[in-house]
Amino acid sequence: MKKVSKDVVIIGAGAAGMMCAIEAGKRSRNVILVDHARKLAEKIRISGGGRCNFTNRYTKAENFLSSNPHFCRSALARFTPQDFIALIEKHGIRYHEKKSGQLFCDDSSQQIIDMLHDECAAAGVDWQMPSQVKQVQYFPADKEIRDIKQKFILTTERNTIEASSLVIATGGLSIPQIGASAFGYQVANQFDIRVMPLRPALVGLTFAAEDFVGFKDISGISIDAEVNCKGASFRESILFTHRGLSGPAILQISSYWQPGEFIHINLLPQQDVQQNFLMHRQSATLLPNLLARYLPKRFVQAWCSAMLAQLSIAVKPMSQYRDDELRQIADKLHDWQIVPSGTVGYKKAEVTLGGVDTHELSSKTMESKRIPGLYFIGEVVDVTGHLGGFNFQWAWSSGYAAGQAV
Ligand SMILES: Cc1cc2nc3c(=O)[nH]c(=O)nc-3n(C[C@H](O)[C@H](O)[C@H](O)COP(=O)(O)OP(=O)(O)OC[C@H]3O[C@@H](n4cnc5c(N)ncnc54)[C@H](O)[C@@H]3O)c2cc1C
Repeated sequence: MKKVSKDVVIIGAGAAGMMCAIEAGKRSRNVILVDHARKLAEKIRISGGGRCNFTNRYTKAENFLSSNPHFCRSALARFTPQDFIALIEKHGIRYHEKKSGQLFCDDSSQQIIDMLHDECAAAGVDWQMPSQVKQVQYFPADKEIRDIKQKFILTTERNTIEASSLVIATGGLSIPQIGASAFGYQVANQFDIRVMPLRPALVGLTFAAEDFVGFKDISGISIDAEVNCKGASFRESILFTHRGLSGPAILQISSYWQPGEFIHINLLPQQDVQQNFLMHRQSATLLPNLLARYLPKRFVQAWCSAMLAQLSIAVKPMSQYRDDELRQIADKLHDWQIVPSGTVGYKKAEVTLGGVDTHELSSKTMESKRIPGLYFIGEVVDVTGHLGGFNFQWAWSSGYAAGQAV
């Protein structure tokens, strides 16, 4: 079988893998990128609705979940959103800010893929794609003989590749239909490197049929709300779907939610509902008609029939409610508590929460503390961003960090 010798082999030619290859190539390292997919960087292509939300201007460590919350700081500080913007501008890619620092391509996410591909070519990076890696072998450095460095030998379906650095950039488990695999976690297991529990995140939530009676019929309706779970809070829209709830606020909170827990939805975060009810205390207006001034009418109908039944309160004119009834209704509008039955899963999730334990890696280089020459970057690592361009920024920053060290 053909044997290829390189300084660095990177498995996974997605966002993090290509960024690492570019930086290592610029340092005159002899680099090969190996990916099993037929099409390059499909996740970048489908991201941001086809326009790739490639970074967020206001990226901070607080925008990430990890069992080691400070881990991401070093890499984020050494390759910042501004550094990526400079790269985009160098390639003449036009972009715009949507909201809260989220930057998108004006035209297409394909421009980001082409830019990374061109940068790889300029840095002399080699490709092997599509190609399955069948086996990873490791030969530690010989301490007695200084010239013998550690060596990784990869057996692929086409050849064997030998390199002193191996970078795992195979991403998470979401969207298996475009090439996601558990490969990175399997390599971690092979080297006894801890993997923090995995679950789909930035994902829609589902509800048991009995908890969702009446709401199925309003799929497509979206409401500006504040959603809370375990101290995390997001004020964005929620979207009713056939199976439950989605929309930015729900996707964000899904990263904090664990099975069995409540999520709390404030349906009218912009107002003091109790105060509003007091102002309409003498009114002949029916409660749903009053609420329909602030919330979509079809949602109000569904919500009132489900919630008022739960509270054993009838629909009537505002003037006929007792104070305690109005207080209960106001409380429910500000704190609608529901227990999701689950999520829509990896098929739809934007990211995978958990991953290679950051305590096992150098925050400066992403290298394993125990296996010299082995690096993990991007989503495979236990660093998960909020919605809004943070996950790509982590891919660029961690890829850059490893690219300086391999
Ligand atoms: C629908 C969707 C929209 C998104 N939109 C955004 C957005 O707008 N902004 C944002 O910041 N984030 C977004 N994300 C998240 C973002 O795409 C990822 O966090 C990011 O791509 C992770 O980069 P990565 O390089 O670690 O992994 P990936 O980009 O997933 O790359 C991993 C690569 O590894 C390859 N691979 C996997 N297994 C193997 C194997 N066994 N052998 C060889 N190769 C393998 C894959 O083919 C792939 O090319 C979105 C995700 C999804 C699913």
